[in-house]
Amino acid sequence: MIKYNLKCKNKHEFESWFSDSKEFDRLKRKNLIECIFCQSKKWKSQ
Ligand SMILES: [Zn+2]
Repeated sequence: MIKYNLKCKNKHEFESWFSDSKEFDRLKRKNLIECIFCQSKKWKSQ
């Protein structure tokens, strides 16, 4: 498992766990990762 620290465009910081970086890339490409606070799909890893 790998953890990513993400920050959405509304400056919410949240963590997400993925089995590996490939899964992260896959979900990211499909736009399936969203902020847990505002459900924004615009975020970046920090
Ligand atoms: Zn947010």
